[in-house]
Amino acid sequence: MGKTRKTCVVAGGAGFLGSHLCEALLSDGADVICIDNFRTGRLANMRQLRREPRLALVEADVINPLSPLLPRSVRRVDWVFNLACAASPPHYQADPEHTMLTNVIGTRNLLALSERTGARFLLASTSEVYGDPQVHPQPESYWGYVNPTGPRACYDEGKRAAEALVFDYGRLGRGDIRVARIFNTYGPRMRADDGRVVSNVVTQALAGDDITIYGSGEQTRSFCYVDDLIDGLLRLMAYDGDYAGAVNLGNPAEITVRELVSRVLRLAASESQIVSRPLPVDDPQRRRPNIALATQLLGWTPRVSLERGLKKTIAYFAAEAAAVALPKTRGSGKGKAGVNGASTLLAKMKDAAIPADERSLIRP
Ligand code: UDP
Repeated sequence: MGKTRKTCVVAGGAGFLGSHLCEALLSDGADVICIDNFRTGRLANMRQLRREPRLALVEADVINPLSPLLPRSVRRVDWVFNLACAASPPHYQADPEHTMLTNVIGTRNLLALSERTGARFLLASTSEVYGDPQVHPQPESYWGYVNPTGPRACYDEGKRAAEALVFDYGRLGRGDIRVARIFNTYGPRMRADDGRVVSNVVTQALAGDDITIYGSGEQTRSFCYVDDLIDGLLRLMAYDGDYAGAVNLGNPAEITVRELVSRVLRLAASESQIVSRPLPVDDPQRRRPNIALATQLLGWTPRVSLERGLKKTIAYFAAEAAAVALPKTRGSGKGKAGVNGASTLLAKMKDAAIPADERSLIRP
């Protein structure tokens, strides 16, 4: 990461990717200021860092002015990462106005913070900027095929607007900017109620509930394990060359949803049945990143196979489910959670109480 001790701001730092990023930065010796509004981020994701003196956790929404929130002692910031936004379709569609504002106003506020503190700025953008792509696999030069008025537009168009803003800051010499387009990423600390295919299928398989496949299941995605993605983000932020465009980060190993389901069923030794559900509106048919640019600029390629990543993810969800299920199942053997077991477990995992001494992590 460089010789001098860095000060980093991670917006959305208590979320799935954000918490892994905070952890990686802290273990590289940085001071980290994590900002989160806890809409989809969770204090539980930061639990292992609660005694870390180099972490400041700020409960705030990036759509509001940020300057008053920085500790007074912080005048200079080296790196600002903007990971603040709900990222799964059910979560970002639950409050579409807030999703759009988070991307546009939130990005503007974080760019302003970077400009004021002299920080390099990285936007976590998304493969959703390519919409339902007509070019396959997707290179960064592809402009995308996005429905600007559909239910995904708050996120797709919000991220496209955020990218436009970031590149204007760059062109105007107001910031040293980086943009990562992140493709489907999975791993420990995804929310059980995230609503995305990996977390849904794994929790359903572990609970013995029906597995929901939307549409035919022949649509494809390319799944990247979280550790690989964090490595890519750090390399892109540290990149000192003069390439000024967006960079795809994702695993090019493409797979149908149906094949993903059968792998999870096998790895979890689950006998869950598959049921069909309607395909969501504007659900992309095929998605796979072209990562030639990331490989060339950053020397980055994903290392974790889907098999290994899924095993780790299944182990994580199994441990979480065991922790919340323990009080009720004590003495009742290791039986499956049964009909609706997954939804009961989800509700419990969502509401799991945070001990008071952990809440005191939060300022102001
Ligand atoms: N999907 C599914 N069952 C689920 C959740 C999602 O079949 O329980 C499908 C969804 O329709 C999409 C793919 O899996 O085709 C990936 O969906 P996800 O929400 O994980 O990511 P995104 O659509 O944002 O790529």
